[in-house]
Amino acid sequence: MISSAQEILKKYFGFDQFRPHQAEIIERVLDKKDALVLMPTGGGKSICFQIPAMLMDGTCIVVSPLISLMKDQVDALKVNGISAEFLNSTQNYNQQQEILEACFRGDIKLLYVSPEKLLTDLDQITRMAKPALFAIDEAHCISSWGHDFRPEYIQMGFLRERFPEIPFIALTATADKVTRKDISKQLKLREPKLFVSSFDRKNLSLDVRIGVKPKQKTEEIISFIKSRNNQSGIIYCLSRNKCEEVAEKLKSAGIKADFYHAGMDADDRSSVQEDFINDDLQIVCATIAFGMGIDKSNVRWVIHFNMPKNMEGYYQEIGRAGRDGLPSETILYYSYADIILLNKFASEGGQAQINLEKLKRIQHYAEADSCRRKILLNYFSETLPENCGNCDVCKNPRKHFDGTVIVQKALSAIVRMSEKEGSQMVIDVLRGSMRAEITHAKYDQLKTHGAGSDISSLDWQRYLMQMLNLGVLEIAYDENFALKLTAAGRDILFGKKRIELTVLQVLDLKEISSREKKVKRVLAPTEELFDILRNVRRDFAMKENVPAYIIFSDATLQAMASEKPRNQIQMLEITGVGEHKMERYGQAFINAILDFLGESKKQRGDTYRETLLLYQQGLKPEEIASQRKMSPQTAYSHLAYLYLRGNISSLEEFVSWTEVDQVKKALRFLGGKSKAMKPIFDHLNESISYLKIRLALAVIEKEEEEK
Ligand code: ADP
Ligand code: ZN
Repeated sequence: MISSAQEILKKYFGFDQFRPHQAEIIERVLDKKDALVLMPTGGGKSICFQIPAMLMDGTCIVVSPLISLMKDQVDALKVNGISAEFLNSTQNYNQQQEILEACFRGDIKLLYVSPEKLLTDLDQITRMAKPALFAIDEAHCISSWGHDFRPEYIQMGFLRERFPEIPFIALTATADKVTRKDISKQLKLREPKLFVSSFDRKNLSLDVRIGVKPKQKTEEIISFIKSRNNQSGIIYCLSRNKCEEVAEKLKSAGIKADFYHAGMDADDRSSVQEDFINDDLQIVCATIAFGMGIDKSNVRWVIHFNMPKNMEGYYQEIGRAGRDGLPSETILYYSYADIILLNKFASEGGQAQINLEKLKRIQHYAEADSCRRKILLNYFSETLPENCGNCDVCKNPRKHFDGTVIVQKALSAIVRMSEKEGSQMVIDVLRGSMRAEITHAKYDQLKTHGAGSDISSLDWQRYLMQMLNLGVLEIAYDENFALKLTAAGRDILFGKKRIELTVLQVLDLKEISSREKKVKRVLAPTEELFDILRNVRRDFAMKENVPAYIIFSDATLQAMASEKPRNQIQMLEITGVGEHKMERYGQAFINAILDFLGESKKQRGDTYRETLLLYQQGLKPEEIASQRKMSPQTAYSHLAYLYLRGNISSLEEFVSWTEVDQVKKALRFLGGKSKAMKPIFDHLNESISYLKIRLALAVIEKEEEEK
């Protein structure tokens, strides 16, 4: 007999602790009171109604607009051993009747329905499934203030009056203050208690890269992907063409990628989506149309190939990464060309003023010189007391310099061209180009022609972006994007004020790719087992026809890979392994782990044993190496290992005490922390070979152990 929410959390979901607010929300619902829950995507909203549903008599009716997600949500509950079903237009009459009868028998704890379905068949549904609780998911859809208004939600308001004694819980991942109020009002919630969780997704790193040329961008992305073995990711592009083009380039680099956009037919789209969810497709290049209907917890990174239109969209899109809580990466590429294009879009559509304002905010974010997470959260009315340490600015603090002269050069060129020209012309004149348009307009005779030839065209673009953001320049979108001075700009031009610019970050592909490689090395040790476990998961997912993450999340597989549970008791300790999943899948994963441990032990054991035998027969390391067809380095490292294990009593015949001593001194000189061989080798002026250093390090290690 289950007595508490806490027990259910462990037994069915395999989690040890509630996240912030979850317990309070559950308590409130069990008290039969209303709640409005705002939690970011991946925050853990579902448990807030799923656990009460299990503790209450009757059925929890979950209203959700995303029919495509219902099956996955229900499957996820079923594999946890919780009885759940959904009702929607994809089922025939008989199927629906069967489900309702099961509800009537009290066999179903959670029933997912679309709003249309609930409203058309309300009487029948509520007669058969005695409602214990109404959970309104994606509740912002009821508000015309929200960004995803759905008229079919509007009628949900009368439900509250019709079922006065039943608690309501409304949940959403996006709602500003106005929308929040509107949700309560439209749903007629009864003294709802508001629960707002932090929107800070700490596991997402934030990185903005400015002014990278398109070709380099693609190269950078390819090297990023290649250093992240099999990780799922999404690349958002501004246009359909771009999606296809980027996907094509990735494919020709041997990467499993495809594209997804609104111009494709429905079948193609859903097949891309399905492959992605099932881990058959590693990467999707998409327009913003992708993502609304996906609930995939192991998206490890999101890249914006172009700048998004506004902060809301950006937050939502990066939010598709790391729903399982594991560290995940986000990169936003941002260029002058994006600004021009987005400004054009924004000023053409309806609500031009609002859209332009929103665009400006994300531009500020992208150009920011201070912690990005602070700015992001600030936009959503949340303050972060400390710098986050997990954004590019925190990791690489910006430096400033007195940029007055550079700014004056640009402003003066602009003024001399009567504030009629766009950025490319301004830059070309500053750089002293003699192209026909310039000589024709006699710009080559201006005093500023060539005054900025020491700065590359790309760097000028980046300085102009800074000037725009600092408010010394503006773009006249209605005059062919001509650059114009602001009042602040005039002050600088006429020497009344000075101005600081940010030192441009060097965009060095080599450096970036070496950084990527380091990331990979950090992940390496458990990676092999993780991949094996993924395959086990995949087999189950295919057999049961559910997305892989429903079997176990990546976070759970990672925990298995690092904890290596060898029996059922240990397996139940792993976060995300409840009793039902243990029974159903546990042994297969335990077996895979045991195989892995046995194999690698055996392999290692055997290979060392062979080396030892040859050594005991009196062979020299070089001879062992050639007999075993291995490199001398490997043979030496085997000897080092055997020495450390006590199979060999001394290494004196291969490395002298003086040499060990020299290595010891070098280590001390180098700070003693790292035992990398190259610095030691260099420090000793290459006088002791790597092979000997390897052995000397083993001797030193053993001495330390024995101290
Ligand atoms: P949301 O609906 O808010 O986007 P979900 O309810 O799908 O989020 O939960 C996101 C992820 O977090 C899921 O993988 C879920 O199993 C996990 N999760 C939820 N609550 C907890 C908890 N208390 N401890 C550990 N993981 C949790
Ligand atoms: Zn930061």
